[in-house]
Amino acid sequence: MKIAVLPGDGIGTEIVAEAVKVLQALGLKFEIEYALVGGAAFEAHGHPLPEGTLKLAQSADAILFGAVGDWKYDTLERSLRPEQAILGLRKHLGLFANFRPAICYEQLVDASSLKPELIAGLDILIIRELTGDIYFGQPRGRRSATDGHFPGTDEGFDTMRYSRPEIERIAHVAFQAAQKRSKRVTSVDKANVLETSQLWRDVMIDIARQYPAVALDHMYVDNAAMQLVRAPKKFDVVVTGNLFGDILSDEASMLTGSIGMLPSASLNAKGQGLYEPSHGSAPDIAGKGIANPLATILSAAMMLRFSLNQPEAADRIEAAVKKVLAQGLRTPDIYSDGSTRVGTAEMGDAVVRAL
Ligand code: NAD
Repeated sequence: MKIAVLPGDGIGTEIVAEAVKVLQALGLKFEIEYALVGGAAFEAHGHPLPEGTLKLAQSADAILFGAVGDWKYDTLERSLRPEQAILGLRKHLGLFANFRPAICYEQLVDASSLKPELIAGLDILIIRELTGDIYFGQPRGRRSATDGHFPGTDEGFDTMRYSRPEIERIAHVAFQAAQKRSKRVTSVDKANVLETSQLWRDVMIDIARQYPAVALDHMYVDNAAMQLVRAPKKFDVVVTGNLFGDILSDEASMLTGSIGMLPSASLNAKGQGLYEPSHGSAPDIAGKGIANPLATILSAAMMLRFSLNQPEAADRIEAAVKKVLAQGLRTPDIYSDGSTRVGTAEMGDAVVRAL
């Protein structure tokens, strides 16, 4: 089981260290290899996704990724910005299916900004297409020069596109996931305005015929954004494109109280996957030892289940996380009165003890 560990920037290094600690406590044999990515790789090698990092990622069974990015890179030409490393990994490894579960842990019901009755027991799965749409179209504008000079134009545009095969494969992923859950898929689009979305909707309807046991409904993205805060438990599996999925999955993650709790998996057709927390590099709290490592630890659990065929180990980690929450341990992002405030490393140590 070869794992490429790419901690990245900001809190990335702090939270990944805790996830590796937990993996090592399982008593399984892993081959773990580290590489730089994002801003850290740009500083050392002049590129956010150096050749060596990409080769390591390609050769591994799974990638454990922290986070990348810092405000100080905001003026860089777009192709050299830390976030390009994630887009590059998705593209080179064909990681087209992003799984973002939004689960409300019983012990954290009060951490949500919504009323407890709206989110208690929440367990939804957002499946976001990850290698198409506007993020992989053709950009043109102030920060997109390929020659290293900003063109300084006063127009910016990006093209949104999807092809039938791209939509078909994410549709299959969504219907198959729904078969193992409550057999409902909500496809989110903007078919009233966008041609890309009309194709998306037509293909979803076509593929649904192969899954007669699963009910499909459609929702416009603006309505979906409202319904997610009005009655989130009405959803089960939500499937959507790259741009809408980016926004809705962050919205869904905040329903549960903290973005610091939620893992994600991005898989290719071979089952190879990149596992990372749903949040970013949080430069505002980096280096303070207070970041919540649980999203990354839970991402390691998803890695064991989806790419390394170790479902029991994944169950053990998830049970250990529930146990530390039940013990009342909280990093500041999920802290509430009466619980015990802990830092990043203490939280990791507690999960290891609970294992
Ligand atoms: P962010 O997710 O980094 O932070 C948003 C807020 O959530 C901040 O207040 C932060 O302190 C808090 N937060 C995030 N993770 C936390 C954790 N584990 N524990 C406690 N609090 C946590 O989003 P942002 O501030 O919009 O972006 C910061 C940088 O991260 C940017 O450079 C952005 O491009 C990058 N980013 C990277 C990824 C990625 O690596 N996959 C994803 C999103 C954003």
